[in-house]
Amino acid sequence: MKFKFGRNKYVGYNVYSMKKYVDKKRVTFTIIVIILVIFTLLLIGYYSINNIIMLKNIDMQNQKLIEISNQLKEKEEKEQKRWEENKNNIEHIYSSETKRVFLTFDDGPSENTSTILNVLQTYGIKANFFVLGSRVDAMPDKVKEIYEKGHFIGNHGYSHIYEQIYSSPQAVLEEYTKTNEAVKKAINQENFNSCLFRFPGGLVGGKYSEIKTQAKELLEQNKILNVDWNALTGDSEVLNPSMDRIMQTLQRTTKGKNSIVLLMHDAKAKKTTAETLPQVIEYFKNQGFEFETFYDVLK
Ligand SMILES: [Zn+2]
Repeated sequence: MKFKFGRNKYVGYNVYSMKKYVDKKRVTFTIIVIILVIFTLLLIGYYSINNIIMLKNIDMQNQKLIEISNQLKEKEEKEQKRWEENKNNIEHIYSSETKRVFLTFDDGPSENTSTILNVLQTYGIKANFFVLGSRVDAMPDKVKEIYEKGHFIGNHGYSHIYEQIYSSPQAVLEEYTKTNEAVKKAINQENFNSCLFRFPGGLVGGKYSEIKTQAKELLEQNKILNVDWNALTGDSEVLNPSMDRIMQTLQRTTKGKNSIVLLMHDAKAKKTTAETLPQVIEYFKNQGFEFETFYDVLK
């Protein structure tokens, strides 16, 4: 019997061999399907695992980023808190529960710096030097000595020429920066920044009052505070004042004050200041004053 299936090529096969052929085809087809299913499952499995690992990695990276951003935020908050505390301390510098005095020397270093440092060392007290950048460049070794002996180095600008430094608020900031660079070099401390400025001639009043007020704002935007004084020896009022005159001015301007920022000068022409310093120190010691530096109020 002849059997026709599909095209003529199968003509002549019997039922049995035909069934065998169909079964074989089915088995092959099933195997292929199974292989495909297994392959697809493996593929899905592979990508799922990969996805899980990837998601886990992304999650870990996100967590790290959150951690870093939290740390930065915390650091910023700490810095902000420190800035506000420092600002508050400087704003309240003329009031204190205990008797304290900040001896301050402007315009140095000079030929008198060594004498001043020796007197301070004899009495074992620390003081504050508001240095001029131009003088720092002229006598860097003296600035290094001031710093290494533990005295505070403040910033008094570079030129001390009013028309220059007060030509604009920006000029004040530029002189601050230039002086700070000079100090950094002199003391070999790359990160040095006193963050405390003393305006030549003082912040308040005078011809450049408006510029100075604007400069104060600009300095504060750059996290730089400023401090004047509330007592003086009058060592810059006349040329070569006598020791008596210095002591009289000191007594007059410090009377009734508990927290004193005393203005003196460390300049070539102010030899009497250095010579009167032991008397000045004795005066405060006898009244029970503590000698402080701005390191004590600026953290
Ligand atoms: Zn000055």
